Parts: sequence; C-alpha cells; structure tokens
Amino acid sequence: MSITPLMPVYPRTAFRPVRGEHCHLIGEDGRRYLDFAAGIAVNALGHSHAGLIGAIQHQAATLMHVSNLYGSPLGEVLAQRLVDLTFADTVFFTNSGAEAVECAIKTARAYHQHVGNNHKFELITFNQAFHGRTLATISASSQEKMHKGFEPLLPGFKYVEFNDLDAVKAAIGPNTAGFLIEPIQGEGGIRAASDDFMKGLRALADEHDLILALDEVQCGYGRSGTFFAYEQYGITPDVVASAKGIGGGFPLGACLATEKAARGMAAGSHGSTYGGNPLAMAAGVAVLDAFAAEDVLANVRDKSAKIVGRLEQFIGNYPELFEEVRGRGLLLGVKLKVEPRGFVAHLRDNHGVLTVSGGDNTLRIVPPLVIDDSHIDEFMDKLSAGAASFPLEPAGQ
Ligand SMILES: *Cc1c(COP(=O)(O)O)cnc(C)c1O
Repeated sequence: MSITPLMPVYPRTAFRPVRGEHCHLIGEDGRRYLDFAAGIAVNALGHSHAGLIGAIQHQAATLMHVSNLYGSPLGEVLAQRLVDLTFADTVFFTNSGAEAVECAIKTARAYHQHVGNNHKFELITFNQAFHGRTLATISASSQEKMHKGFEPLLPGFKYVEFNDLDAVKAAIGPNTAGFLIEPIQGEGGIRAASDDFMKGLRALADEHDLILALDEVQCGYGRSGTFFAYEQYGITPDVVASAKGIGGGFPLGACLATEKAARGMAAGSHGSTYGGNPLAMAAGVAVLDAFAAEDVLANVRDKSAKIVGRLEQFIGNYPELFEEVRGRGLLLGVKLKVEPRGFVAHLRDNHGVLTVSGGDNTLRIVPPLVIDDSHIDEFMDKLSAGAASFPLEPAGQ
C-alpha cells in the first residue's frame, strides 16, 4: 500500500509542530518558529492562552456535549453577545467555516422560498473567492482547481469579477437570490473590496430585495482591525458567516443573520449535531472575554500600523522580489514577483518564521491578534534575513 494513513490531500511540510507557546510554535525536533500563520488566521489569541485553556478544561469536565434537542444556556450567552456586538438578530453555530457559509447559502435561498419565490436561488459570487471545501462552497467559488474531480457542481452560483459593480448589475436576473462575498479576500490574495463596491452591493440588494451575505470567516473577528470588516464599509449586511478566529483554535463557526434575512430558517429546517455544543460555546465565550479584557481590537490596529509601515519601507530594498503590501489590520499580504510557496518554505526552513502563501502570488501575514512589538521586530528581522538569502535565480535555471 502506498497511500498514507492520513489521506494525502495536503502536501505537508517536514516541519511537525508539537507545542505552541503564545506566538511561537515548537517542532518535534525542539526548534522554535515565530508563528505569523496562526493556523491560517485561526489562533487569534496565540497558542496556550490561559483563559481559553481554562474555559475549555472547566467545560470539558462539566459538560462537553448534549444534543440541540435541549435548551442551551451557554449557546444563549454566546449568541446574545454576538447579537449585541453586531448587526445580527440571530445566530446559528457550526463547527467550521464551510458550514457557516453553507448556512448562509441556505438562509439566502430560504429567504426567497419562504414567500414562494422558488426561482430566486442563485447567488452572485466573485472570481478568486474562497468559501470552503464542501460541494456547495466549492461550487460558490470560481476556482477551477477546487472543482477538478468533484463535478458536477451544485447549481445556483454565478461568478463575476471582484470590485466590478457594472458586472454585478449585468449579472442580476430573475433567479438572483443575493450576493456572497468576502469583504477582504483571504485565500485569493488579500484583496479588499473597495468602499464603492460594497456600498454598491448593499444598494443593489436593497433595490432588488436580495440578500447581501458576507463570508467573514477569515477577515472577521477582529482580524481586519474592527470586529467585523463590514463595519469599515459603513454598510449593514443581511447574513455573515464567521469561523476561524471565533474559537481561537477550537473548531467553531457561526452564521449571523438579521431577523428578516432568517425568515425562512424555521424549526426543523437546518441543524448540526455538534454545532453549538457546550464545549464550543465555552471556548467562544472565553475568546470574547479575552478580546474585551486584552483590548484585542486596539492591539490589532496598533500593530497593523507598525508592521505595515515597516513593510512598506522594507519592500523597496528588494524590488525584484516584492511588489506591494496589501490588506487591513492583521490580515496582511505582500504581493511577490515570484510564486510564493518557495519563499514561504525558505522563511520557514531557513529563518524560523511561519507565513502562508495565497493566490495572486501573495505572501499572507496573519499572526495572532495578540502580538506585541517584540514579535514585529522578530518578524522583520527574519523577513529581512530571508529576503537577503533568497535565491531568486537558482543556479542552473
Ligand atoms: C477558511 C475559509 C473558509 C472555510 O473554513 P473551514 O473552517 O476550512 O471550513 C471559508 N471562507 C473563507 C473566507 C475562509 O478563509
């Protein structure tokens, strides 16, 4: 047998992390790495956060799981806190980002079908988008590399160019149910929607009675410098999918909606066995407690300004390697002039710093939201050593 016991869908590195300490990871061989990947924008509080660990340990010993057939005191607490912090009136908890997006898609369809508009099932989505790996969420993405081998796709998605409002207008038809968009594309290369574009989508949604659903799985939960990225656009969405940072590393996602948008999500219409279980809810509450106690949003804005300032200065030293700095908050990217995977591997293996590659030749910089100035210094030192030693034109090519 040549297949590995772990299904080989990920090309895994030789680096095998076994322990986390705040903003660092330690490998099996004892080597330390500065973690500016954070489990792909997940470990908002870094690793080994005492409050999060304590909440999970306590809840695990008290009650880990019950079904959603029963009342949920902790679920009510977390849902109420999210309602108080956002546009939303109601929340469905999931175990992952793709499930949160899946719920957003179902909510948008059900909104129309609730009043008999069964033909309004199509969501307009955007080129280079990433929404997850379930069949519905790969169908929502235009990226063919995620479709290959898994066709037929789910019908009901129309792809248009990101930040092109005229293309959106042209794509709206009798079957349109709404829009599904990442305000800041993560996987696609840290590309932010323009102000005019997001405001334009809101206006079109109002004009045509469509659902504006945001995928804030990566850009939400403080990552962009506000609790959710939509706040920076001065718009109110109808539905938002959240995950990644929401559990600080514990598997948790959420679909947030207004009362109006959720009008089709009646009793018995949707569900999840694990979704919203007491252990996940305790983790979610602990993350929000830490956000408040440690003023995480202010830290994101402060550290973002510092790191962006330094990156802007720095990239000019290597014009043949770096093109531009992108992103908001601590959802940052440096567009490279080369395919980023080699540079990510070089930084990791030769300089002990973890980053993530993204689409559009982007090096993603998504550290824990609790980094301090010393981590920025360490990052810039390692990045600069990495750039200096990176073989742009390897011998023999
Ligand atoms: C990561 C991500 C998802 C999928 O989340 P999973 O937890 O992997 O299912 C969906 N949308 C966006 C924008 C993401 O970054």
